[in-house]
Amino acid sequence: MKKNTVLCESMNLNVKGMPLSATLNINEKSNEMIKQGKKVYKLGLGQAPFPVPKPVIETLKENAHRKDYLPVKGLHELREAVAKYYKKSQNLDFSADDILIGPGSKELMFILQVVFYGELLLPAPSWVSYAPQAKILGKKTVWIDTYEENDWLLMPEDLENYCKKNPNTPRVIILNYPNNPTGKTYPEKLLKELAYAARKQGILVLSDEIYGELNHKGNHVSIARFYPEGTIISSGLSKWCGAGGWRLGTFAFPKNLKWLLDGMATVASETFTSVSAPIQFASIRAFNFDDEINTYLKHSRRILKALGNYIYKNFNSVGIKVPQPDGAFYFLPNFSQLKDSLAKRDITTSSRLCETILQETGVAFLPGSDFGRDEKELTTRIAYVDFDGEQALAAAYEIKDDLNESFLRKYCANTVTAVDKICEWVKP
Ligand code: GLU
Repeated sequence: MKKNTVLCESMNLNVKGMPLSATLNINEKSNEMIKQGKKVYKLGLGQAPFPVPKPVIETLKENAHRKDYLPVKGLHELREAVAKYYKKSQNLDFSADDILIGPGSKELMFILQVVFYGELLLPAPSWVSYAPQAKILGKKTVWIDTYEENDWLLMPEDLENYCKKNPNTPRVIILNYPNNPTGKTYPEKLLKELAYAARKQGILVLSDEIYGELNHKGNHVSIARFYPEGTIISSGLSKWCGAGGWRLGTFAFPKNLKWLLDGMATVASETFTSVSAPIQFASIRAFNFDDEINTYLKHSRRILKALGNYIYKNFNSVGIKVPQPDGAFYFLPNFSQLKDSLAKRDITTSSRLCETILQETGVAFLPGSDFGRDEKELTTRIAYVDFDGEQALAAAYEIKDDLNESFLRKYCANTVTAVDKICEWVKP
């Protein structure tokens, strides 16, 4: 019989063999194990633990009847609210015309890579999806190494040293801070130096500030303040507003990059059309950042800071190295100091390490190799989000003092237990 060429595997070679994104894969695997009756501590997917603030939910309900397609670039009032937010929070001058709304910043990043012709530079480690997006498009990714002694932050000289070799290549670098997977952020001085290097080398910066509002001290600074003409700021509702599943992302462009915004809008118009109408109306309420939302954020940060500090102390006390966290809800725990005892347990790669800990303790987390680190390095990533954020927030609102360990044991129990289990597991 003639072979049916439609039904036999005829796949784009860029995609062939690629697994599901690591973060979503570990989530599905964890849920599957839970369904089979196993106890799993979910430190794999970085999903915000806190609920969507009440006024934002109310606004969504009030707008459920909105059924029309909205403008491709996003609802004007929402784009205006986002522009105003950047004026208030960073003193940056955007207007509604400079903002693009998408179904999650992840999709906007992919479309940026479709439209921008050039190399993708990534500090190693970086979030799991930037490089696979480039791979899907058959584009080149260049990893620039970072070092633990610098808290895994990109050093401007390392960026320059790479770019100097081939000065006339168009390039975009993605800088993410507070950082996923490390929890660190760039101090202002380093941001200025990176801005200087990027300007000198003509590099476009995609500044992924999705965790900006989750800087534990609430004092996030954008690199766009120092390199406004070359920076696109990426953000969205997923992390600070607890609305990952709502899928709403924002890009803010300087005026001189209008060609890029327009190119992306063309691709948007041929792909996702426009973002869900009720979600856009509700997002206006979120981006207004009134007192109620600011209070919600203040307490979210307090909880993350207290929990981050607990993990920082406990991991370091058993030889799992992590730097003091600045923001977001991640760590890049480094087990390298324990290399010899792990080798005796037949563990020599980060994926084997995570696999074994999952099997033996039920704690699900990700290997550093998913974030661009060497397999053999024994770095990993945890997302400290396995707790009921609604209950934790309600309790935190009532407590004036620092949130102590008994608060964490009561309201962030799964995460605390998971961390204790890892600490116990590494003991000889
Ligand atoms: N940013 C989250 C993480 O790193 C998950 C969201 C996603 O990968 O789409 O775990």
